[in-house]
Amino acid sequence: MEAVSSRTKIQEVSDRVDTNASVLESYLHTLRAVAGRMGLRDDVRLVLERPQRAVQVSLPLEMDDGTVQIFEGFRVQHNSVRGVLKGGMRFHPCVDKQEIEALAALMTLKTALINLPFGGAKGGVAVDPTKLSDRELQRLTRLFVQRLGDVIGPFTDVPAPDVNTNERIMAWAVDEYHRIHAACHHPEASFTGKPLAMYGSEGRAEATGKGGFIVLKEYLERHGKKLNEVTVAVQGFGNVGSQFALCAAEAGMRVVILSDEGGGVMNISGHDVKRLIESQKQDGHLEKNVCYPRFGVTEAGEGERGCVPVSNSELLSADVDVLVLAAIENQITEHNADAVRAHVVLELANGPTTLMADEILTRRGIPVIPDILANSGGVAVSYFEWTQNIQKQHWTADEVNDRLGNIMRDALHAVYDRAQKENVTLREAGYRIALSRLEEAMVLRGVVPPK
Ligand code: NAD
Repeated sequence: MEAVSSRTKIQEVSDRVDTNASVLESYLHTLRAVAGRMGLRDDVRLVLERPQRAVQVSLPLEMDDGTVQIFEGFRVQHNSVRGVLKGGMRFHPCVDKQEIEALAALMTLKTALINLPFGGAKGGVAVDPTKLSDRELQRLTRLFVQRLGDVIGPFTDVPAPDVNTNERIMAWAVDEYHRIHAACHHPEASFTGKPLAMYGSEGRAEATGKGGFIVLKEYLERHGKKLNEVTVAVQGFGNVGSQFALCAAEAGMRVVILSDEGGGVMNISGHDVKRLIESQKQDGHLEKNVCYPRFGVTEAGEGERGCVPVSNSELLSADVDVLVLAAIENQITEHNADAVRAHVVLELANGPTTLMADEILTRRGIPVIPDILANSGGVAVSYFEWTQNIQKQHWTADEVNDRLGNIMRDALHAVYDRAQKENVTLREAGYRIALSRLEEAMVLRGVVPPK
């Protein structure tokens, strides 16, 4: 069993290495196609095809046993024409420059789409954090911050959590930033996604999943759907997927499939998401925990009542109303897009649908609520956190959630209306809104000459 699962993991990793380039290619292709159709200026498109700065650092980490291992780190600053650079940092073995470049570009679009005064950036270290001790993880985080030096800062570039990074890592990062820049007036604003006790914001941990839920709810309501008649399958049960699923279940949707990298679980009556979040914290992976909860039990049906294991391909082709992608990139590809049976796809992960898959889904009439809209709740609340830090304020959870709701609702309706008006997909409408704002800012700042 052990050998099989580790082989599967190695296979997944090598598949992703092969396809990392495609997230960047998807961005470039979509940018060029949309720019052509909407009449974006060529000079603006050319600026947006490249990051304004890409930094690669080498991190010699002293391991607990006294040996030294070298890890590669990246920070890509795509575009700051609309404000301070903003974007997550991830720790994952598949991190490479192309992937980070693509994700940084998506941040530029996302912040422009929801009209935040931010630009787009992304960072990461190519490392499997599960293989590091806590002390090694802390040393690696501090080393990364040291190496980035003045490249980041409260008024230049503000990182946040992403895959495999969390509020504890942000706390170490802020502490290191403050140690290096002792004279900085706003060291707490150098990172967002911090713990509440270290100037974090109410509602930040839930923000991406909750924001995605608000977008979906508004979308379904525009289609006259009653939430309690909607079934959902969610790929990924980490920070984003679990918070989305919780909101969906609390609103009366039937969350019938949940999955993480250990496998998926179906419960046709709808999962008790709140309880699963609690039990996952204690017992690890979903499938093992929910379907085989007792030692030695190896057959489905003996676990939680009504729960059966499902494979990733069964999840992606499930007969549900909404398929939610909340794990990693490149999950719906040209190889499985024809099998998707959901009526709507919600992209909470960045780049989970490849370019060809997107075309297939469009041809088949399956709308995709795109990542730059659906997962922008995280950066919205990061913006609130940064604003509170700069103003030395603390907003209540209600204040944060009200503002988040307003931003997400406005963004969904703007994208939806533009898509209807110009007869384009939701992704194209989102790109058009963001690109128009970026073009206007570039002209006003003189990055490109006036027409
Ligand atoms: P996370 O590390 O907390 O969770 C990722 C989840 O995906 C885990 O449950 C993991 O087991 C699962 N997973 C990984 N590979 C899988 C696979 N092949 N099949 C099924 N499940 C798999 O990460 P997160 O913060 O929840 O981020 C998820 C996605 O959302 C990423 O693409 C990230 O870039 C994006 N995102 C996150 C935020 C944020 O605020 N955290 C904001 C915007 C976008």
